[in-house]
Amino acid sequence: MILMSLLSILLAVFLPKYGNMLRDSKEGATLQGLGNLRTALTLYSIDHDGVYPNTLLPSVLVPRYLKKIPECYTREHGSSRAMAPSGGFQEDRVGWGYLSESHRYGPARLYIPCVHKDSRGIPWSQR
Ligand SMILES: [Zn+2]
Repeated sequence: MILMSLLSILLAVFLPKYGNMLRDSKEGATLQGLGNLRTALTLYSIDHDGVYPNTLLPSVLVPRYLKKIPECYTREHGSSRAMAPSGGFQEDRVGWGYLSESHRYGPARLYIPCVHKDSRGIPWSQR
């Protein structure tokens, strides 16, 4: 009986921490994926005289610039590898957004179209 009580106390203390660690590592992987996608886009533009792709399909980057499209995770929307052209910054979904209209005038804008905040309090769309 004492052992069961002790076990339930330990679980109550450590399970939430484990959940937070899992969420933090998924968020960290998402931020790393965002950086990898931006690097892949820069490499693409170097190979194409400074021009970024009109649309961002996985086949534009995989396998030449990336092994695979990274997973995007937000606490509110879960995970996705979807890449979609964007209608702007007012969307609220998970996946990778891409503003193609800027592709000839400088670095294309690749971002996470989610207005919710990550565990550090920063909106995903501002990452
Ligand atoms: Zn959101």
